[in-house]
Amino acid sequence: MSKSNEISSDWSSKLKNVLEESNLLSKFEKCITCGKCVGDCPASTVSSTYNVRKLIRDMLYGRSDLLLSSEEIWECFLCYTCEVLCPAGLKIPNLIHLLREKALEEGYGYDLIQDIKPMGEYFLKTGTVFENVTIKKVREKLGIPKKRIITEQALKKLNQICESTGFINTIKNIDKKVKSTKARKTNY
Ligand code: SF4
Ligand code: SF4
Repeated sequence: MSKSNEISSDWSSKLKNVLEESNLLSKFEKCITCGKCVGDCPASTVSSTYNVRKLIRDMLYGRSDLLLSSEEIWECFLCYTCEVLCPAGLKIPNLIHLLREKALEEGYGYDLIQDIKPMGEYFLKTGTVFENVTIKKVREKLGIPKKRIITEQALKKLNQICESTGFINTIKNIDKKVKSTKARKTNY
């Protein structure tokens, strides 16, 4: 799909380095543009501008600013359908995760993740994202305790991991960051 001499000059070296370190650049050069990832993509069904092939193309062309400031990288549901269907075995959700992470570093998207703050706090406190009546009923049916049991030690480890990955810091600072979040552009 792309050769290195086609890489555009607006590459953010930071993004390029991360993509190279994670081998995503070389892997995605194997994309055969078959379109299977678009055909059954639920995000494409509900968004007139979301097209994962275009995201891949722009990633390979090095259009970092366009990608990181885009609305579209936040429209993926991370359902993994594309990953299952891709004949080249490309892990598109991994790319989306990485682009979102870099977009946040560049100051985009905090308004979109603000709603997950209570979920994140609950996760750090209980080790689970949410519990509801249906889940409890299913657990009961399976003969396991209605509520997940997380030991103090496991919770401590979980918090240590979240501290080292920067998750705790992100959750703590969401409200502050929302105030200065950059306006996104719809690019496609
Ligand atoms: S399914 Fe895979 S190979 Fe086909 S266009 Fe999508 S990413 Fe490329
Ligand atoms: S993971 Fe994202 S890009 Fe892939 S099929 Fe699901 S919504 Fe579409």
